[in-house]
Amino acid sequence: MRNLQKIVMVFALAFCAFAGDSKTSKAKVTAAKETIFVVYSSSFSPDMVMKMRKEIEQFYQVKTKTLPPVSLPKKTMTAIEGRYQANRILDWMKEKYRNKNAKVLLLTNADICTDRELNGKVLRNYRIFGLGTRPGNFCVVTISRFGNKKVEKKLAYVVLHELGHNYGLEHCTTPHCMMKDAQGKGVNIENEPKQFCKKCRKILN
Ligand SMILES: [Zn+2]
Ligand SMILES: [Zn+2]
Repeated sequence: MRNLQKIVMVFALAFCAFAGDSKTSKAKVTAAKETIFVVYSSSFSPDMVMKMRKEIEQFYQVKTKTLPPVSLPKKTMTAIEGRYQANRILDWMKEKYRNKNAKVLLLTNADICTDRELNGKVLRNYRIFGLGTRPGNFCVVTISRFGNKKVEKKLAYVVLHELGHNYGLEHCTTPHCMMKDAQGKGVNIENEPKQFCKKCRKILN
């Protein structure tokens, strides 16, 4: 059973970028500290929210703030029970937090998915770890597929990856760059360094 779970995890590994919500092609981590808002599903651990805020603050050198917990609206659900369309969640967030004029990350334990192309095939309702607008202000990350081990490490990796999309980064092919797209090949993200390659860092700075 445990082995089967592992296999499922490996094949499900995919990070995604969603069409951006602003016209700028390059986002920058500003010198005057910006604030990234973190919102979470009501069933998500507030303790884990704090841990992720710390990760974000350290990595991107920004301030963070927690927003009140939310329930994912019905309109973001798919026909598959318990599965939510990440694109719809992002659209909903754009509306809900439009007055913030800042990046908003949603942490959830709900199963999230998107339609994506993989090896020339379009996969409908493909389960993902996270989705972020590029460039843009919104991303959503789930722990639903992380199993019980090293959840914090895996979550931090995907959170920083999706925020990378918000800052304008595309997927990157440099080995061990956090902006790589695993494309279902399977990578142990908990063992990967939390770093961008030179090329990605240049775009950020
Ligand atoms: Zn991605
Ligand atoms: Zn890179």
